[in-house]
Amino acid sequence: MVRPQSLQDTSTGSIANLLAYRTLRASIAMSRRGALSAIIGGLLGSWLIVYLSGGADSMVPHWYYVPIIFAAARFGPIAALVVALIAGILAGPLTYVDVAAATLQDPARWLTRTGFFVGNGLLMAWLFGPSLRPFGEEIGRMREELEIQRALKKDEFALVYQPVLSLESLSVVGVEALIRWHHPERGEVSPGHFMPVAEESKLIHEISDFVLDEACRQASVWHRECETQGRESWYMAINLSSRDLLDPTLASRVERTLERHSLPARLLHIELTESILAADEAVFQLRQLKRIGVHLSIDDFGTGYSSLSYLDRFPVDTVKIDRSLVMNLGPEASSQALAKGMVLLANSLELATVAEGLETEEQLEIGRQLGFHFAQGYLFARPLPPDEVLEQYGDLTPGHFSSLATSMDT
Ligand code: C2E
Ligand code: MG
Ligand code: MG
Repeated sequence: MVRPQSLQDTSTGSIANLLAYRTLRASIAMSRRGALSAIIGGLLGSWLIVYLSGGADSMVPHWYYVPIIFAAARFGPIAALVVALIAGILAGPLTYVDVAAATLQDPARWLTRTGFFVGNGLLMAWLFGPSLRPFGEEIGRMREELEIQRALKKDEFALVYQPVLSLESLSVVGVEALIRWHHPERGEVSPGHFMPVAEESKLIHEISDFVLDEACRQASVWHRECETQGRESWYMAINLSSRDLLDPTLASRVERTLERHSLPARLLHIELTESILAADEAVFQLRQLKRIGVHLSIDDFGTGYSSLSYLDRFPVDTVKIDRSLVMNLGPEASSQALAKGMVLLANSLELATVAEGLETEEQLEIGRQLGFHFAQGYLFARPLPPDEVLEQYGDLTPGHFSSLATSMDT
C-alpha cells in the first residue's frame, strides 16, 4: 500500500515518490463529481472521435476502454458495468458504420463489442478491487486531511468550554477548551472524528496553534473581567497531542502566545495524555513548559501507562482521572478501588486530582469521599460556547451548584 507519510519523505531523495504523492493528491482532490465528469467526458469524447473519423468502419472504438477502466478503478464493478453498457450503446446503435452513408451497424457486431466492454470492465474491477481497498482507506484519510486544511482556511473550527469545579466549594475554578468543527454539510463534528487524522499529519500543529491562540485570547478576556471585579480568575485548560510535544518550538510558541494576550502563565493548563510519558524527549519539553510557568496535567489518567515512575519523573501538577473509571463509581468497594488507588497515588506525589465525566450525584458524593479536588462532567455543565459560559457561570461566587451541595449534605 502506498503510504503518503513515506511518500512525503523527500529526505530519502526519491523524486518518483514525491511525484507519486502529488499525483495521488491531485486525483483525490478531484471530487466524486470531478471523476464522474471525467467518465462522461471520456465516453462522449470516444464517440466524437469515431464519428469525426467517419464511423465504426474507419476507426475501431478502443477509446471507450479508458473511461471503463477508470470507472472500474475509481468506483468498482457496478460503475464499471454501467459505464460499459453506456459505451456499448454509444459505440453500437448510436454510431454509424459509415457516417457519410448513414448506415447502421449490424446488431450482432455491436452486441459482441458490448460484451467485450462489460467483460473488460468487470475484470478490471475484480483485479483492482483487493489492491485498491487499503488504498481506498488511504484515500479516505487524505480526503479528510484536505477537508481539515480547507476548514482551517475557512475558520470552521471553534472552541467550547466545559467548567471545572472545586469539589470543596462547588464553584467554577477553570474551564477546559474543547474543539468543535462546524462542517457546512456534516454539522458539528466532534474531535474524536477528525483529531486522529490531524494527529497523523502536520495539520495538528495548525490546529493546536489555533486552539492555543483562541483559548488564551478568551482566557485573557475573562481574566481582565475577573480582575476588574476583584475575583479569582478561571484557569484555561487546553489539550495538546503527543505530536505537539515533538515540536522543539512548542515552548517558545506558548510563551509568545501568552505574551500576545497578556495572560499570566499560571492561568494556562496544558493537558497531555499518558502516552507522552513514555517518550524520553518529552521530559525536556515539559521542563521547558514548566520553566515558562504553565500548569501541566495528565489527561485520561488510568487508561494508558499509569505508572508511578513516569509520574515521578515528569514535572506534572495535576492528574485527570479518566471517565471510564469515574463512571463506574458506585457504593461497592470494588468499583471504587482503582479510583481510590489513583487518588492516593496522586496525593502522595502532591498532585491535584480531577474526576472527569461526573454524571450523577452518587458519583459526585463518592468522588468527594475519595478525596478528589476537582471535577467536571455533564452533572455540572456540558461544554458550552463562550457567551453561554459567561451567561450561566459568569457570577463566580460559590453557590452555582448549591442545590447539589444541599442535596449532598442532607
Ligand atoms: P478530554 O480532553 O478527556 O475531554 C473530555 C471529553 O469528555 C470531552 O469530549 C467532553 O465533552 C466529554 N465529557 C465531559 N464530561 C462528560 C460527561 O459527563 N459524560 C460524557 N459522556 N462525556 C463527557 P470531546 O469534546 O468530544 O473531546 C474528546 C477528546 O478529544 C478530548 O478528551 C481530547 O482528548 C480531544 N480533544 C478535544 N479538544 C481538543 C483540542 O483542542 N486539541 C486536542 N489535541 N485534542 C482535543
Ligand atoms: Mg482534556
Ligand atoms: Mg480526558
